[in-house]
Amino acid sequence: MRRPDGLLNHNVLGEDKGPQDACGVFGVWAPGEEVAKLTFYGLYALQHRGTESAGIATSDGERILVYKDMGLVSQVFTEGDLATLKGNLAIGHCRYSTTGSSTWVNAQPTLRPTKYGTLALAHNGNLTNTGDLAELVQKLDANYTRGATTDTEIMTALIALQDSKNLEASALTVLPQLEGAFSLVFMDEHTLYAARDRHGVRPLVLGKLETGWVVASESAGLDIVGAAFVREIEPGEFISIDANGVRSQKWAESQPKGCLFEYVYLARPDTTIAGSGIHKTRVAIGAQLAKEQPAEADLVIPVPESGTPAAIGYAKESGIPFGMGLVKNSYVGRTFIQPSQTIRQLGIRLKLNPLREIIEGKRIVVVDDSIVRGNTQRAIVRMLREAGAREIHVRISSPPVKWPCYYGIDFASRAELIAHGLDVEEIRRSIGADSLGYVSLEGLISSTQVPSERLCSACFTGEYPIRIPEDLSEGKMRLEITEVHGH
Ligand code: SF4
Repeated sequence: MRRPDGLLNHNVLGEDKGPQDACGVFGVWAPGEEVAKLTFYGLYALQHRGTESAGIATSDGERILVYKDMGLVSQVFTEGDLATLKGNLAIGHCRYSTTGSSTWVNAQPTLRPTKYGTLALAHNGNLTNTGDLAELVQKLDANYTRGATTDTEIMTALIALQDSKNLEASALTVLPQLEGAFSLVFMDEHTLYAARDRHGVRPLVLGKLETGWVVASESAGLDIVGAAFVREIEPGEFISIDANGVRSQKWAESQPKGCLFEYVYLARPDTTIAGSGIHKTRVAIGAQLAKEQPAEADLVIPVPESGTPAAIGYAKESGIPFGMGLVKNSYVGRTFIQPSQTIRQLGIRLKLNPLREIIEGKRIVVVDDSIVRGNTQRAIVRMLREAGAREIHVRISSPPVKWPCYYGIDFASRAELIAHGLDVEEIRRSIGADSLGYVSLEGLISSTQVPSERLCSACFTGEYPIRIPEDLSEGKMRLEITEVHGH
C-alpha cells in the first residue's frame, strides 16, 4: 500500500497553491451494493477538497479493511484493490493536510481497535484544542504511542479509549470535548455514524439510495452515486445508520457558523449548501462585484474554473461580453513526478495558457475568486500582457484575505497573505494590474442569502467565531513540534 518512492507528492505549480481545502468525506451503508466502488466514486466527486491522499474502509460485518495511499483517488485505487474491499458499509476520505504533514501515516481513514470492535474514522475540518486532547489521551493510556501526527488520530484514539458500552456512547462522550471544525464519518463493523460540530463550519449532507444511505461532504458526492439529497446534517447533530434506518440525536445546541469561503471557492459549483446552489450564488457574487467595481473594458474573462461563474455574473451585470481567454489544463494537480527546473520556471503556464486571438489588443476584465499570496495573479497579469492585452482589470469575488483559517483551510501564514501587509492599491501595483477591485464583505454575504450571523468570515475580518488558542501559532505541524520537544 505504501509507495516505494517516498511519502510526499509535489505541487507542480511550486509554492503558490492558493487556498487548499481540508478534506472530503464520504460514507455509505448499503448491504448488497459494491460499497467500495460507491465510495470510490463519491471520493472522485469530492476530489477537489483534498488531493494529497485518499483512503477507503469497508466492513463485511466481521472485520474492517482499510486501503489508503498518497495521491489522487484515481491514482490510489485499482479495480483489484476495490474488489478486495467487500462489505455492507464503507467510509472514505480524500485529504489535504491542515494538521500534520502530508505523509502516508497521516492519510485517512484512521483505524483503532476498541473494546467493542474496531473504529475507522474520517474527518473534514480542523480541531483547535488538539494539544489538550492529546494530554487527555495520554492520561487514559500512558503507553499510548501515536502513529499519525494529526488531530484526527488524537480524536480517534480518544473515542477508542472510552470505557463505554458501545461506539455510539463513546462518540457521544467525546464529541463535546472537541473544539473547532469537524464533519465526521466513522464506523464499526455494523454501523455507519456521522457527526458535525456545533457550528457546522464544514458541510455534510445525507442522501438516500434505493438500498441504503449515503453521507457526503457535498451534495455532488450524492449525485455521482445516484443518491437523492435528503437534507443537511445539522450543526451539533449525530446520526447512526444501520438495518434499523437512520437515527438522529443532538449532541450540542446548534450555533451555525458555516464557512463563507465554501460559497466563494471551495465547494463544487454543482453543490447546494444551506439551500443555495453554489453556481447560482457565484454568478450573483459576480453581478454584485460588477455593481461595486465597474470597469471600462471590451471583454470579461474568468480565471478558470473557479472564477467562471463570477465572471458570467460580472459580464451579465456590466453588459461587457464574456469570453474564455485562458485555457486550463484540467489534468494538472498533484503528481508524483517532480517537475524539472525548466518546467518549473514555466510556472503558471503548466496550469493556464492564454488564447492570444481572444486577448490581443483588448481591455480585459479578469475575474478570480480570491488572492492569497498574489503570485498566481501576478503571473496571470504578466501572461495576459505577453498575449497582447491592452489593459488588465483584475476583479476578485471575495474580500481581501487578511487572516489565516484555523478551521480547516490552509491559506498560508498571516505574514504570507498579501492583503495582510498591503492595501488594495499596493496589491494592484504588486501584481501589475491596471486596476484591482474586490467585492465587499456585505456584498458577498448578501449574495449567499445566508444571514451574516450564521456564517464564519474570519479570514476576511479576523473575528474568529470559535476560540483560537495561542499555541496554534505553531501551525499545522503542532503535534510534530510537540513530539520533538518531548511534551
Ligand atoms: S476563516 Fe475563512 S476559510 Fe476558515 S472557516 Fe472561516 S470563512 Fe471559512
